[in-house]
Amino acid sequence: MKKDVKYIFVTGGVSSSLGKGIISASLAKLLQGRGFSVTIQKLDPYINIDPGTLNPYEHGECYVTDDGAETDLDLGHYERFSNTPTSQANNVTTGRIYQNVISKERKGEYLGTTVQVIPHITDEIKRSIQILGQTNNYDFVITEIGGTVGDIESFPFVETVRQMKWELGKNCAVIHLTLVPYLSAAGELKTKPTQHSVKTMLEQGVQPDIIVCRTEHHLNDGIKRKIAQFCNVSPTSVIESIDAETIYDVPLLMREEKLDIEVLSVTNTEIPEKLDLTNWERFLTRLKNPVGSVNIGLIGKYVELKDAYKSINEALVHGGTENEYRVNIISIQSEKLDETNVVDKLRGLDGILVAPGFGGRGIEGKIRAIKYARENKIPFLGICLGMQCAVIEFSRNVLGLSDAHTTEIDQNTSNPVINLMEEQKNVTDLGGSMRLGLYDCHIDKNSLTYKEYKKQDIKERHRHRYEFNNNYKTLFVDNGMNLTGINLVKDLVEIIEIKDHPWFIGVQFHPEYKSTVKEPHPLFVGFVRAAINYSKYGK
Ligand code: GLN
Repeated sequence: MKKDVKYIFVTGGVSSSLGKGIISASLAKLLQGRGFSVTIQKLDPYINIDPGTLNPYEHGECYVTDDGAETDLDLGHYERFSNTPTSQANNVTTGRIYQNVISKERKGEYLGTTVQVIPHITDEIKRSIQILGQTNNYDFVITEIGGTVGDIESFPFVETVRQMKWELGKNCAVIHLTLVPYLSAAGELKTKPTQHSVKTMLEQGVQPDIIVCRTEHHLNDGIKRKIAQFCNVSPTSVIESIDAETIYDVPLLMREEKLDIEVLSVTNTEIPEKLDLTNWERFLTRLKNPVGSVNIGLIGKYVELKDAYKSINEALVHGGTENEYRVNIISIQSEKLDETNVVDKLRGLDGILVAPGFGGRGIEGKIRAIKYARENKIPFLGICLGMQCAVIEFSRNVLGLSDAHTTEIDQNTSNPVINLMEEQKNVTDLGGSMRLGLYDCHIDKNSLTYKEYKKQDIKERHRHRYEFNNNYKTLFVDNGMNLTGINLVKDLVEIIEIKDHPWFIGVQFHPEYKSTVKEPHPLFVGFVRAAINYSKYGK
């Protein structure tokens, strides 16, 4: 028998960046721990079809799913916490909703009617929420609504929540996340912003069922009672979300606050007695009790932005925890790295990771850092553009092709060691047109990469237009760069290694997207292990 899917909405008020994504992911973790199947979805109110064309200054990293969707970075948190793959259906923007409605209008699907925000846009939003629950028969669909309530652009989303709450009754619940600021001059936590935020929701017809209060200080019972009274919820439905040492603490903090129990009660769901978070607790214990630490340099052009390399940062945390080591990530701005300061800036690093990216800014710094890693035998991981830079570095400094480059940056180079993929040559639109999502890669059995993966056939996620130029294959292999991973269908080089180096790997794909708490990515585990060895014996 088809069961009722329960729909949980997570909205935000007062301020952005309160951590709706982490709360959603933590709730999913708790519900999974009680044996439920859960998926999480993010609705973004902006008009871009997806975040693929945004630069990281806007919303941080662009996260890529198995099916090649370019999505909001919160989907990365969802996957890292729940260990369940997401897809295009898990991230929907206003732009995509309108695109769907307009294309239906052109096909004549609304023939004779005026197409309006209500009901057509809201129906399309509803469809994109319910399709997730219905096609996979999940117990819970958690839908996070981007932005804050009261924003003009989130109105249709909040209106959809209102309608769904009315239609689904107990099969729907709304969690509202707010900020309870502490005024140090008054020495008090203030509830008024929360009251106003809930009032804004009420004006739009939505009564939240649970209020999660982000705070820097514990909420006493008095404050909880006050919020409950002014916001029409029971005091047990006022949940404290105190600042945590790491995002990985949040599921356990939410367990203490009984967020899962509140959600189950509000939705009339029988509460399973057992909540099993053993693996999560084991991960946290290891994370918090490292036996040592290593310094890994992250070289990129957006390092000053906290969220630009989110998945890489988290994959390093997973890799470190698996080795019972703490990874200190030393961010190095590639634009500021040159011949005069490279030794000063990179001295003391136990591993060097060169980040993905687009365009020429900072690329010479990346290439210089790779030369340093190669010559000093420091463990190196190059991801996407980072791998392409390793190919350029090798061409210039080992093969003596002094003007070698990628045609992304220098179209006139006489040695285009990285060039545009054949299938990209006629692409004119920039949105959603890269080589995106999961592709096969076959690994050479006699390689370091094989030792890390312990298998020959892998699938990894891609996001790029340029590739290793196969005309140079023999020259590279003959001079000590092994091409150890190949996509056999298209004959594309996906992995490179340097033969005479303890740990030097460049990958055309993005391993960071697939690293989760439950399954840390083998390349990150191996890279951190190599850095530990370097810190002990290499220097
Ligand atoms: N700009 C490069 C390309 O398109 C690398 C992309 C990336 O690092 N994600 O191929």
